[in-house]
Amino acid sequence: MRSPSSVLIVGAGQAGLQAAGSLRDGGFAGDVTILGGEVHYPYQRPPLSKAGLQSDTFPAPTIRPSKYFNDRSIRVILGEHATRLDRARHSVFTSNGRELGADHVVLATGASNRRLLIPGERLRGVFYLRTVDEADALRAALRDAERLVVIGAGFIGLEVAAVARKRGIATTIVDIDQRPMSRAVSPQMSEYFMDLHTKAGAEIILSRTVEAIEGHDGVVQSVRLNSGEQIRADVVLIGVGATPNVDLATDALLQVSNGIVTDEYLTTSDQSISAIGDCASFPAAHGERIRLESVQNATDQARAVAAKLLGRGQPYSATPWFWSDQGETKLQIVGRVSGCDEMLVSGDPNEHSFSVFCFRDGKLSGIESINRPADHMAGRRLLKLSSAIPIESVVGAKFDMKAIEADVRSREPEAVQ
Ligand SMILES: Cc1cc2nc3c(=O)[nH]c(=O)nc-3n(C[C@H](O)[C@H](O)[C@H](O)COP(=O)(O)OP(=O)(O)OC[C@H]3O[C@@H](n4cnc5c(N)ncnc54)[C@H](O)[C@@H]3O)c2cc1C
Repeated sequence: MRSPSSVLIVGAGQAGLQAAGSLRDGGFAGDVTILGGEVHYPYQRPPLSKAGLQSDTFPAPTIRPSKYFNDRSIRVILGEHATRLDRARHSVFTSNGRELGADHVVLATGASNRRLLIPGERLRGVFYLRTVDEADALRAALRDAERLVVIGAGFIGLEVAAVARKRGIATTIVDIDQRPMSRAVSPQMSEYFMDLHTKAGAEIILSRTVEAIEGHDGVVQSVRLNSGEQIRADVVLIGVGATPNVDLATDALLQVSNGIVTDEYLTTSDQSISAIGDCASFPAAHGERIRLESVQNATDQARAVAAKLLGRGQPYSATPWFWSDQGETKLQIVGRVSGCDEMLVSGDPNEHSFSVFCFRDGKLSGIESINRPADHMAGRRLLKLSSAIPIESVVGAKFDMKAIEADVRSREPEAVQ
């Protein structure tokens, strides 16, 4: 690909920041502009559901100070949305009526909270959690809260539940599925976290839907389930997932399907537009198309697109990894767990130190680790080394990561280079 002379990045989040920084670090001399709908400089979202809720005050977890952008001649426009992408004119129109032209546009628009459209969703005391402003509002509400109901036992909901229990707030978690984090972790890991949260004093109600959030004078009072149960609440957090921000792409007639569709170079159906991070749907192993919501995915895809725009593009193939802190427990995941058909546990869940090795068609696909950072880091190396590590190799090496690595290298000498 010929290097563009100007790049406009839509979205001032984790991916947008990284794309701009990597372009400059790689020697890009043209104009670089970041357009962000939020008024804040790019910040990290992970602390918003973790350390950021633990105390009464928490500074916005900004990733880089404004000086970083000035020093690199990166133009940053904040508090202004891209409202239209005009492909013929190679430009983006903004909510302030500006037209920003660029040779190449990088869509890094992230994702939005999936709304739970049930009665009472707009009552005072009901929160979602994605932005620093939403985190500030939730933190303020938790200060005097006595009873929290979390709707959705995903990562964000469980992280907030863990903080709430630590703060002594009576906490109930409700989920439609049969186990927590069902789409993202193995049944063994769900069971471990079920036990962990229950022991911490949270009540977990599974296989139920929430029919309504009820209140008085506009303020939340309870949550009603399809079983008829009514759970008292003065704060409700809805954490039922996210949907990719694709409106700009859809309106511009780019291909969209659970995210902005890209090829292996993260190029959309228009050669002069890329998509990265939470908003992008890209080709992965097994002929699947996936969309990931993680810091690793956002930053690695940003680096990959910057390399492409600098004329050094490679098909995107980074090994995914992710973490979640729930109370004192750190879960780390490397590779893919969804789609796995066999799981083997190494270590002892009762001692809060173990890993679940997940296999698909007899090959290692992912590793989930609890308080075992060494397994996680070795797993990242292993899965980068080979995508075809047989189950026999893992079991034969008794889950010893060094032995597995030695075995892989002896089987696949080309991986050593
Ligand atoms: C509470 C929370 C906790 C998380 N914890 C973890 C964790 O522990 N580990 C982990 O790996 N990941 C975690 N994540 C996920 C991770 O933060 C995201 O995957 C990552 O931020 C994605 O980066 P992004 O740049 O694609 O999107 P974002 O960081 O969301 O940035 C997108 C930006 O684009 C802006 N935007 C959208 N549309 C427009 C437009 N039309 N014009 C201008 N701007 C626009 C948005 O306002 C937003 O600021 C967490 C997410 C949340 C919400």
